[in-house]
Amino acid sequence: MRLFRWRVLPPPARTLSSVPAGVQSFVPACRTADSRSVELLQDFVSRASRLFVITGAGLSTESGIPDYRSEGVGLYARTDRRPMQHAEFVRSAKSRQRYWARNFVGWSQFSSHQPNCAHTALQRWEAGGKLHWLVTQNVDALHSKAGQRRLTELHGCAHRVMCLGCGAVTAREELQRRFMALNPDWSVEAAGVAPDGDVFIEDEQVLHFRVPSCENCGGILKPEVTFFGDTVNKGTVQFVHERLAESDAVLVVGSSLQVYSGYRFLLAANDRRTPVAILNIGPTRADHLAELRVSGRCGEVLSVIQLP
Ligand SMILES: [Zn+2]
Repeated sequence: MRLFRWRVLPPPARTLSSVPAGVQSFVPACRTADSRSVELLQDFVSRASRLFVITGAGLSTESGIPDYRSEGVGLYARTDRRPMQHAEFVRSAKSRQRYWARNFVGWSQFSSHQPNCAHTALQRWEAGGKLHWLVTQNVDALHSKAGQRRLTELHGCAHRVMCLGCGAVTAREELQRRFMALNPDWSVEAAGVAPDGDVFIEDEQVLHFRVPSCENCGGILKPEVTFFGDTVNKGTVQFVHERLAESDAVLVVGSSLQVYSGYRFLLAANDRRTPVAILNIGPTRADHLAELRVSGRCGEVLSVIQLP
């Protein structure tokens, strides 16, 4: 069995939180949310009967998965690496080899992350009939691991793999077994896991990594994830707009909404005069559209909100 040596990045200074030890190093520093704004959020949630929730990377940082943009701790702040671009992945066999080699190394850690108390709170809201629909921009499967069913994974899910030739979708776990069978003697040194499971390894380490193709058609395998530069499926966007139209309030949880694919639903909510609240650490692109903004950790705040 191969051994991976991990260089662990020193965690930034933290304030106390409800996050278990060892998984908080990617949560940006922040004060505990003030009690007045938590009360206002309680009122907001109580008034809603069909709540539409949109979540982002800020929810999963409390499970130990870094985000891209947070000050000091996000991937962009800590490294000069940038996420895979869709066109590059499709065009270049070398880029795919590099991507999959890193993804292979990061998989056992990335796939083992567990939902935190924010995910379980949202699942309880669904079970209690409060939450009408949840849209996530995360690809880490933590909402489905928490048992969320009224769920759209807007950018896909890293736990699934899609063939660009025939469209067949298979489990990422199955591809891991194929990687291991094809690369029995391959080993690397790696450091740091990205929000989509990518890790950082040197290009020369990648050269001998073998990437399998689709078992049905020999086509190119890609995570069933919307890479940067690609667009979200039109049918999915339409479906989410319909769920939004059926909702009477919108709550953003743990997203700066910098990516248009999520931000567009806030614009649509504004057009419909649907009230919006935002729970996030730091500013968001939709702050001017919200009647309420709560700055705080998702898990800490959501777990104190009561349902009637
Ligand atoms: Zn295929």
